[in-house]
Amino acid sequence: CGIVGYIGFRSAKEVLLKSLKRLEYRGYDSAGVAIVNGKINIAKKKGYIDSLEFGFDGTLGIGHTRWATHGVPEDRNAHPFLDCKGDIAIVHNGIIENYMVLKEELVNRGHKFTSDTDSEVIAHLIEEYYQGDFKEAFLKAVRELKGSFAIVAINKNERKIMAAKKDSPLVIGVGDHENFVASDIPAFLEYTNRVIVMKDGEISELTDDIVHFYDFNGRNIEKKNVEIINWS
Ligand code: GLU
Repeated sequence: CGIVGYIGFRSAKEVLLKSLKRLEYRGYDSAGVAIVNGKINIAKKKGYIDSLEFGFDGTLGIGHTRWATHGVPEDRNAHPFLDCKGDIAIVHNGIIENYMVLKEELVNRGHKFTSDTDSEVIAHLIEEYYQGDFKEAFLKAVRELKGSFAIVAINKNERKIMAAKKDSPLVIGVGDHENFVASDIPAFLEYTNRVIVMKDGEISELTDDIVHFYDFNGRNIEKKNVEIINWS
């Protein structure tokens, strides 16, 4: 299973598909991408990355390969997941242990679910908290989650990527006027060798030109440890 995210100037379609291929070694049963282009476009499918066929593109998006834990491998259980309005998209690796309680509350509040996964609650939870500030809504949602997670999320109204890590790997790739997030370094090594490893309990906020780090309470974390990865 794997996660990738891209914000920058290149074709997100090309970057995401290539990056997902670089994570194939981790194993998966389904694959999907979400790309922002006015709205959020989604392509997802049970099966191989190569079987994802879509025409849309943009310069901001997220991608996922799934290793099913909750919900059988089927198209509708593949990530990314949208909120009800279709404004927020998330991908998740790991297990949300309290998803049943959260899902019940959200269903009672009128949220319609389209999958059997634990992960889909994340999109609806962010939607529930969203009042115009994506970062705030993301932080509030993450604080509700129990279990293990690498989460990457986008919102069609704000040009940024939000990511959260707890007991599932996530690394940041720092570029020039572009930034990357992924489960492992090979995903983006073709584009940048400047890497920041996220630790448990950290949130990152990626825009085209800057990456900020916070703890789950939204307090700034100063991360100066950019590693330069040399490969040959
Ligand atoms: N628990 C989630 C699911 O079954 C994520 C699995 C994964 O890590 O790929 O969809």
